Amino acid sequence: MSSSLLPVFARSALSFERGDGVWLTTREGERYLDFGGGIAVASLGYSHPHLVTALTEQAGKLWHVSNLHRIPEGERLADRLTAASFADVVFFTNSGAEANEAAIKMARKYHAAKGHPERFRIITVEGAFHGRTLATIAAGGQQKYIDGFGPKVEGFDQVPFDDLKAAEAAIGPETAALMLEPIQGEGGIRVIAPATLRAYRDLCDAHGLLLVMDEVQSGVGRTGHLFAHEPSGIVPDIMSVAKGIGGGFPMGACLATFEAASGMTPGSHGTTFGGNPLAMSVGNAVLDVLLEPTFLDRVKLLGLSLKQRLAALKDAHPDLVAEVRGEGLMLGLRLTQPNTDFVAAARKHHLLVIAAGDNVVRLLPPLVITEAEIADGCRRLEAACADMAPAVSAAADLQAAAPTERGAA
Ligand SMILES: *Cc1c(COP(=O)(O)O)cnc(C)c1O
Repeated sequence: MSSSLLPVFARSALSFERGDGVWLTTREGERYLDFGGGIAVASLGYSHPHLVTALTEQAGKLWHVSNLHRIPEGERLADRLTAASFADVVFFTNSGAEANEAAIKMARKYHAAKGHPERFRIITVEGAFHGRTLATIAAGGQQKYIDGFGPKVEGFDQVPFDDLKAAEAAIGPETAALMLEPIQGEGGIRVIAPATLRAYRDLCDAHGLLLVMDEVQSGVGRTGHLFAHEPSGIVPDIMSVAKGIGGGFPMGACLATFEAASGMTPGSHGTTFGGNPLAMSVGNAVLDVLLEPTFLDRVKLLGLSLKQRLAALKDAHPDLVAEVRGEGLMLGLRLTQPNTDFVAAARKHHLLVIAAGDNVVRLLPPLVITEAEIADGCRRLEAACADMAPAVSAAADLQAAAPTERGAA
């Protein structure tokens, strides 16, 4: 499996040649049911006819002009995103990390433009993932991503998950913003309760902080809402999105209110590729489908169905499945056995799922999945659980053999 690629990924040996809906097909013609969606990216599945048409039509016209000129497809997509959200303005990027970089810069610039350049620090939450650039690894705060890359970018203060008191205590005269994912994705599908989100909003208001919501994974219909923070009733000041917004075409966006964006003026930020006509055409096509009247209601119902089936799986395998969590089609199983073993077991049954933090297995299927495909996937999950049974009983035997050592844990 050696190749000239930089070996930063531990890849499976699978190699897919085509995709169709929720299914991926290998070069050997074997079909896999994809409950990972390319990490929540294939929001409308593979080869969606409306996206294929949008991409190929635009490909024949114009790919790139740079942001030196007007891009009508981008103006239209920004109008539609702001009409459908709290935001007034949009900056398009090529990735989630770049959307977060824009969000971080915007939050800092907001205070600087108001005469408070000393307010540059941003409070983030343990278990967060905001990307792999130098600033976003500092924001995410995970040591394994920070080590070896020189001095950590200054200005990020991390507090424990779901700990409002710690967040309040971390606020100082230099604090500019609070940044969080409404549902942590990489961190293990950890949901922030709506009441807690409201309390974070109150905290920001009381201290003049901007609330930055990272919806790169949770946004764009994933939870059955256009954005995951919506059921809480609060609005952020700045929001990053990416992953599902391009349906597989690399793109991201940083959305903000006029007020939060007030420090950003011509020249203060930029991108060569971001918002190019090809990406914008595909983004508009994704929104066409997502904003169809019943689309998100369908995601909610499918999410409930999948969550119920996962609860049944937990009941059937209580020694393996410790917890079911998440919203809509952003769900996770916390396991008692290594999640990577489970991912491999599921793969043997031609089901793709993704490991996450906190020993969770993530389920992020394309939003166009059918009820029958959910049932099919759950049969494969059941088979993977059955394959894990020997490991589960070996662990139980170990515990029985040494009750004093293991029982206390
Ligand atoms: C994936 C992810 C990112 C980073 O996105 P990239 O496109 O990989 O740069 C940032 N934040 C969250 C919540 C993510 O899930």
